[in-house]
Amino acid sequence: MKHIDILIIGAGISGAVLAERYASIGKKVLIIEKRNHIAGNCYDYTDDNGILVSKYGAHLFHTNEEQVWNYVNTFSDWYSWEHKVIARVDDKTVPIPVNITTVNKLFDASITNEEQMKNWLEENREPFEKPANGEEAVLNRVGLVLYEKMFKHYTKKQWDKYPAELDASVLDRIPVRTNYDDRYFSDIFQALPVGGYTQLFENMLDHPNIDILLETDYFDVKHQYKGYEKLFYTGPVDRFFEFRHSLIEKLEYRSINFVSETVDAEFFQENSVVNYPGTEVDFTRIIEYKHFGNQISDKTTVVKEFTVDQGEPYYPVPNPKNQEIYARYKAEADKLTDVYFVGRLANYKYFNMDQAFKNALDLFHQLEKDSEFKTAV
Ligand code: UDP
Repeated sequence: MKHIDILIIGAGISGAVLAERYASIGKKVLIIEKRNHIAGNCYDYTDDNGILVSKYGAHLFHTNEEQVWNYVNTFSDWYSWEHKVIARVDDKTVPIPVNITTVNKLFDASITNEEQMKNWLEENREPFEKPANGEEAVLNRVGLVLYEKMFKHYTKKQWDKYPAELDASVLDRIPVRTNYDDRYFSDIFQALPVGGYTQLFENMLDHPNIDILLETDYFDVKHQYKGYEKLFYTGPVDRFFEFRHSLIEKLEYRSINFVSETVDAEFFQENSVVNYPGTEVDFTRIIEYKHFGNQISDKTTVVKEFTVDQGEPYYPVPNPKNQEIYARYKAEADKLTDVYFVGRLANYKYFNMDQAFKNALDLFHQLEKDSEFKTAV
């Protein structure tokens, strides 16, 4: 068997960054990936309508981290894409994040400046000094009416939990604006890779020191791999420890059922993402991929997202109970030497893409600084 220095489980963002970094310093890397493709949940491909679609939901890259931005630019050109989301609420279409237009449209208000918007929020919000959960976080920012219309049921559909059962951080991901800014993110760098994410990952992993074993479950073959320097595991943390702390309560994850259809029309909807925060439909949102990069095709592909608890884990579920279960796995993970848990599933954290890049890059720098130090002394 070929000599391996670095064994990596999973070819998503964390796995690809570590593979690329270790290969660049001369290490022999093997990635073992369960799926039949690289790029993890960023995986995209051109479908039968000639449209670049993402298999696991839209991925919008945004970051304030210059280091991450420079890094991803090494492997692809990027075009500027400031993502926008609209929501169908009460037979109206409004922008989300909540901004002046959202309030004007929903309540037939005539707010025209920041001061008036601040006053509206002040009159409506229910202040919480330190919001303890998602419900308090939303009430604190926008108050009960918008909470009911835009957040309560969407969250229930997405997580099968009401905002009160989730950490404040989940709902705090979405800002509230006192101006007309209707961009979903406010980061300095917002862009999509020309040619798609799969191509970006292909470029990252295109190195003679990197081998990739697809369609292989690490847990079926792990006895075959010994003698490596380091193992980086990016799968679900509880799977690594054979779910041993799940006897009383299982660590929860949410998965998504993507229901795709071709519509024989130029466009189906006016925006790439339309959210349905009400109870009239079971799905959370509809994505129309053709909008990304203004793609051209006679037809259009639309994907409805239904969040489910069975299936491949995509989202950790951030709340105190899961954190408690995770802490038990983390304590075990910390005891292992030369085994590192990286990324959304292994750290049980709701990372954005840029955070996943940053964490993997930081880990590499930290370990390599340590090993330089060890060799120097
Ligand atoms: N959310 C909501 N209404 C919306 C959009 C988001 O209540 O129209 C809440 C919901 O709980 C969601 C969270 O805000 O899970 C974070 O939304 P984001 O769009 O960041 O989720 P992602 O794109 O990662 O699924």
